Amino acid sequence: MLNLSTVEFSDINNDTLDDDLSRMNVLIIEDQLLNIHLLEAILSTHFMTQVAMSGEEAIAYCQNTTPDLILLDIQMGGIDGIETCKHLKSLPHLKDIPVIFITSFFEHEDFCWEVGGVDFIRKPFTNKTVFNRVKAHLTLKAQRDRLLELVFLDSLTEIYNRRYFDIHYEKIDLNAKRNKSDYALIVIDIDLFKQFNDIYGHLEGDRALKIVAQTIKDTLKRPQDFVARYGGEEFAVVLPYTDLKGAILVTENIIKNIAALNIENSASLFKHLSVSGGVATLKSSEDHADTFQIADDKLYMSKQSGRNKFSY
Ligand code: GH3
Ligand code: MG
Ligand code: MG
Ligand code: MG
Repeated sequence: MLNLSTVEFSDINNDTLDDDLSRMNVLIIEDQLLNIHLLEAILSTHFMTQVAMSGEEAIAYCQNTTPDLILLDIQMGGIDGIETCKHLKSLPHLKDIPVIFITSFFEHEDFCWEVGGVDFIRKPFTNKTVFNRVKAHLTLKAQRDRLLELVFLDSLTEIYNRRYFDIHYEKIDLNAKRNKSDYALIVIDIDLFKQFNDIYGHLEGDRALKIVAQTIKDTLKRPQDFVARYGGEEFAVVLPYTDLKGAILVTENIIKNIAALNIENSASLFKHLSVSGGVATLKSSEDHADTFQIADDKLYMSKQSGRNKFSY
């Protein structure tokens, strides 16, 4: 049996958990001004707080925002806390966000659990109970977030790793086949990178890898697009609901933006570090079994025909 009791959470990265907690966002959904003031007074010196004064306001606010924890009053004008929770939990980006109910009535407690609440606080509340309940659930959330980062992020480039790609690409592929929608896959490989390492050293190689990865990431504009480090100096970009025309545009931008970094590579004809790409979409590869294989074949064509270019 492994003994992990000698390892602390703060060993996972340099920041302590308290740093994580002070950056976490608590959304307070409450319709009584007095309660809002009380809750903010208890929480806002320790965590970031936001207030919504109705369920409707909270639902609108959460369309583009992901709080780390939701404190939810049950009795409100308009839709009540239970209905608000059901609605929020139906949004994919909020399904795992902890919701703590604030309730005056014993009879409401079972509803809190049934709609996915992690806890509740009974009114009238004490400062210590509110603070400690919120802190306990934020701590669990912070620990979970750190573990997910360790599992799914590549530590050198700070983009997603192969494990994340494998899991999410499969989902996107299945979903597109089911809905008869399209998606694009771009495989990107750094050109002549072995020689780059030989000339400039492995540390410079690592630095360049990180910059290239971040440049690809910054080139992607839609929230569902993602890039993962697929292998040593190879990246896979997934663009859901994107056709070949859109994918070509994105690939052109990736290659252009990496060239514009102007990282010297004297081994290259172009004298700067460059990448090559292979592009495929589900629809453009429908007769074939494997979109990834097609994108990889196209990458090979780009390499064969001179590099610093892409094929589709
Ligand atoms: P091509 O243009 O045909 O892709 O040539 P290449 O030299 O890029 O391809 P090759 O597959 O021969 O070499 C890949 C190199 O990438 C070899 C390896 O040293 C380098 N590499 C892979 N992972 C890392 C890394 O994490 N850090 C550094 N510095 N280099 C890496
Ligand atoms: Mg109320
Ligand atoms: Mg290469
Ligand atoms: Mg390679």
